[in-house]
Parts: sequence; structure tokens; C-alpha cells
Amino acid sequence: MPKSAYNTERFEIPKLNVMVIGNRTNISNFVKTIKDLRRDPTTVLKYFSKELATSGEIKGTQAEFIGKFGVIEINKKFKRFLDEFVLCKECSKPDTTIQKDGRNFFLKCEACGARRPISKM
Ligand SMILES: [Zn+2]
Repeated sequence: MPKSAYNTERFEIPKLNVMVIGNRTNISNFVKTIKDLRRDPTTVLKYFSKELATSGEIKGTQAEFIGKFGVIEINKKFKRFLDEFVLCKECSKPDTTIQKDGRNFFLKCEACGARRPISKM
């Protein structure tokens, strides 16, 4: 039975498909996963590049980073990204948007209305 992660009570954290090819690390479902979370893939790519201290680029639906990174390491950083920039701390739902207010950024939850300050991505 197909189900949407967004209609269930508990949000299931999506898994990034990580594959090391030669000296590069490829995430095959990067663009779709980030778009499903209603975030901008290019911005999130920059976030990952900074976190991994390397450079990366979007190739079609995939993201590719210079260097070898393991699936656990990538998904751990992805989880931290979700905690900080996507998931509501009050209700744990991913139905959030990022709002800019002057020089400050806030995560606004559309499910419960909570709003909290976040750092710049
Ligand atoms: Zn909420």
C-alpha cells in the first residue's frame, strides 16, 4: 500500500542513496529528496559541501562530491540538516518553511504554527 511520508503521524527520515565511484561520492536521489522537503537543492548542496569540507555539484537528479564519504557519514549530516532546517521541534513534522526576517532566519511550521530561530543555512 503506497503511503506518503507526510500524511503519517511519524515522519520517516528519507535515506540518501550514497555510492562512492572512484574518488567521488555520488548521491543518486539528492534532488528529489531535497525537493520533497521543499528545500532548494543548490542551497543544500552548498551546505553539504561546507559540512564535508569539499566541493560538490548537481548533475541532473544527482549530487556529486569530490572525495570518498561513507553512507553513514552522509546520512548523519543529512539528519543534522533535517533537525536544524526542516523538522519542527514542537511536533516533529517536516511541513515547514524558512522565513527571513531582516537578517534573521526562522523555521515556521505549517502543521502546528510554531516558529523558531535558525542559523543561516
Ligand atoms: Zn510543528
